[in-house]
Amino acid sequence: MRLIFIGPPGAGKGTQCGRITKKLNIPHISTGDMFRAAVEQGTPMGVEAQRYMTAGELVPDEVVIGLVRERLSKSDVAEGFLLDGFPRTVPQAEALQETLKELEQSLDAVALLEVPDDLIVERIVGRRTDPETGRIYHVTFDPPPIQIIPRLRHRSDDTEEAVRARLEAYHGQTAPLIPFYEELGLLRRVDGVGEVDEITERLMGALR
Ligand code: AMP
Repeated sequence: MRLIFIGPPGAGKGTQCGRITKKLNIPHISTGDMFRAAVEQGTPMGVEAQRYMTAGELVPDEVVIGLVRERLSKSDVAEGFLLDGFPRTVPQAEALQETLKELEQSLDAVALLEVPDDLIVERIVGRRTDPETGRIYHVTFDPPPIQIIPRLRHRSDDTEEAVRARLEAYHGQTAPLIPFYEELGLLRRVDGVGEVDEITERLMGALR
């Protein structure tokens, strides 16, 4: 299956994508994770991306599009993939359509994970990631085991100020993808409020 997940920052895309890709046995392509890896390695792209990421702004389309094009040309994604955090603008979505056409592939579904803005800031500011397993915790809603607390990471863009900028980018630049994919008949709306397991079930139901 070829899938896309869209939704505001903090909607639980990362957590749910990890679960869904395991169930469907398809590669998880997260542009945010690719940029974070580039930042950590100090590559030229990482250095450029970091400026935007820290400010909660989107990395320029041409950088992201190039990155995804290259990733989609690899053999492990020939049978399917789940794109998480891409596309985030209409030009990115158009470039993706173009790339898939060249590869003679098409999308099966676009899941929109819906969470109201007032829940998002609280969710994001308390979010912590375990670098060893990739598992995402929340200091209040999903507390980590005490012994792993020292190794947990807090994303540098998970501050209240950056979250507000990321929400603004979502509503201004990413939300236009909703009518874009609705018109293509691909959009599946899923309520992203509730227990993690329950939301995974809703997503699996919507993607079937
Ligand atoms: P994420 O982990 O998906 O929330 O992405 C973290 C940050 O990486 C975003 O706030 C952007 O600065 C950048 N980023 C990730 N994916 C994209 C994209 N498709 N377009 C532009 N910027 C992106």
